[in-house]
Amino acid sequence: MKLDVNVLRYLSKDDFRVLTAVEMGMRNHEIVPSELVDRIASLKHGGTYKVLKNLLKHKLVHHDSSKYDGFRLTYLGYDFLAIKTMVNRGVFTAVGRQIGVGKESDIFEVAKEDGSILAIKLHRLGRTSFRAVKSKRDYLRHRRSFNWLYLSRLAALKEFSFMKALEEHGFPVPNAVDCNRHCVVMSLIHGYPLVQVRELQSPEVVFDRILGLIVHLAEHGLIHCDFNEFNIMIDDEEKVTMIDFPQMVSVSHRNAQMYFDRDVDCILKFFSKRFNLSLEEQIDNTDNSEEDSEGSSRPCFSSISKSVGFLDRELAASGFTRKEQDDMDKFVKEEKDQDQCSDDEEDSAGMDETIVRDVVSLHLLDQPGHTVEGNEEEIKENRQSCEGQLSEPCCEAHFNEDESEENVNDTELVKSLNKQRRRAIAAVHRGGKTIASRNSYKDKGGRSSHNSKIQKQLGSW
Ligand code: ADP
Ligand code: MG
Repeated sequence: MKLDVNVLRYLSKDDFRVLTAVEMGMRNHEIVPSELVDRIASLKHGGTYKVLKNLLKHKLVHHDSSKYDGFRLTYLGYDFLAIKTMVNRGVFTAVGRQIGVGKESDIFEVAKEDGSILAIKLHRLGRTSFRAVKSKRDYLRHRRSFNWLYLSRLAALKEFSFMKALEEHGFPVPNAVDCNRHCVVMSLIHGYPLVQVRELQSPEVVFDRILGLIVHLAEHGLIHCDFNEFNIMIDDEEKVTMIDFPQMVSVSHRNAQMYFDRDVDCILKFFSKRFNLSLEEQIDNTDNSEEDSEGSSRPCFSSISKSVGFLDRELAASGFTRKEQDDMDKFVKEEKDQDQCSDDEEDSAGMDETIVRDVVSLHLLDQPGHTVEGNEEEIKENRQSCEGQLSEPCCEAHFNEDESEENVNDTELVKSLNKQRRRAIAAVHRGGKTIASRNSYKDKGGRSSHNSKIQKQLGSW
């Protein structure tokens, strides 16, 4: 997805006010009635309409008049809100090139004021394989208040919390810097996903290190659940870093053993195929408790002494509530059950074609020339461009506080909009008086607004 952050520099205080008003309306509405946006933003002299037009032009909101006249945020609009907040907090000052496209995220480089480079991950729950999207839609249909905005925010918060906790416990993970909305800011890993690595100096050592991580995680009460060559980064010194944590579960999860064994199998299969390690006997051989005398058999879930409760404690400490955890678990459950680790060509074709194909097409669509599994030359080029990037100023757009016309104070804005939102709710509860917009949004060509429907929508607040 293209993230043209240059636009960000030209957005005014009112633009952000209205954009935030749409975001607030989306807490209870998939499509936020125009009148409600106007009511929350409470700009003078028909200002909201003009601003919405500008936001539409920049594709920060989407206009929908199929049921009633309203708006929703686009991913881009949500990205801008998160980026603006981070810039205001001084976390970074510029956004650079895209460095990764995951199944459900986009990763970009960002630069701090002192020129150092970090990475941001923008979560995009819902952008996944068609099969998973369908099952999620089925689920979402029953829970209207769940939308991609909420779920992407939860995924980011969970990932951030885990990254922080794992780092504190000495795990090799990126340094968790900050989190806002669906955006996680972390240190940039100077390496490559294992899937792109064709040769290792000491594959056995790397293999042991990686398998050791799965065991170590279980000892801390955790299972990664997506531990494969796409989520392991490796640098020139063959140092391993694990990434991508939103799907982690506790060892007390009812399917813990299955997830653990699946993580182990992914690694066994990958190293067996890619680096010709003789691990075939261990693959799918989860009943190995008697083979331990051989020395190097696969880790056995039941014989690991685990400190159950780590996950709950860490998440609770981060403010990630049990309910949010449950919401997310329900959402990702189907996908986890269907997902299997991807492997070399033959395996991926057989195992999870849809997902692999989608990942590839995302790469092709979003990043011309960037493939999931590059050939030697592509990988070399990739390495060089990564290296070059670090010494060069990578950033396409800088946000200079002095340059921007008006520096929006995020907390103040949210506070004042929340007040407006409460007033709007109170107005509805007081007696069904139609919320007449001071500056009714003119529906150009679409169907006109249906006040009765809007009333009904507002009634659900
Ligand atoms: P998803 O959850 O969508 O799978 P990931 O967290 O796995 O996303 O990231 C996708 C890709 O982005 C990774 O394979 C990696 O190439 C790149 N990436 C992610 N985090 C970082 C980071 N901190 N530093 C450098 N590259 C990263
Ligand atoms: Mg990943």
